[in-house]
Amino acid sequence: MFWSEKAFKSYSKALENIQRTFEEIAKKQQQGIKELYILEVSDGLLCVWERGGAGCNSGSSTVIADSQGGPKKAIKVRASGHLANREHALIPVEIGDHIIFAFAFKRKCIVEIYSVVGFDVARKAIISKKVVEVEGQAIEEVLQKLPENLVKAASAAITKAHCYHCREPHYIVK
Ligand SMILES: [Zn+2]
Repeated sequence: MFWSEKAFKSYSKALENIQRTFEEIAKKQQQGIKELYILEVSDGLLCVWERGGAGCNSGSSTVIADSQGGPKKAIKVRASGHLANREHALIPVEIGDHIIFAFAFKRKCIVEIYSVVGFDVARKAIISKKVVEVEGQAIEEVLQKLPENLVKAASAAITKAHCYHCREPHYIVK
């Protein structure tokens, strides 16, 4: 594998963060820390795929937002191959970012939001903390229960989970 100097620096920094993270976890073990096995390493950058879409009766999505809830820049946007309800945009993630999962079953909707507290690269895991989980019938009802800064990103995640055979990113910096 070829490592550019920039990629190597970013990877080394990530490793430092892991060390720091494990020290933090030791302190915060009882505080709802969860591992999400969705980490990808691409060119030495730690990334997560925006992915998902809807079928006939149900759908799901993963969307990534920064610490303020804003969209992030993707390093790769898929344009060919099997795209429907699959991976669409590869997004570098850092500590403080938000990972948003939306699930849609008929008229019911669930949103789970996690904040990134660290990485376990060897196990492809993101160490995260649940910020909020909301369930509801109407989309408006769900959005009302979310922290204000995350409404836009969550709304994009819900839309994607309802997007029939989704083929493109819904929440990235264009
Ligand atoms: Zn879509």
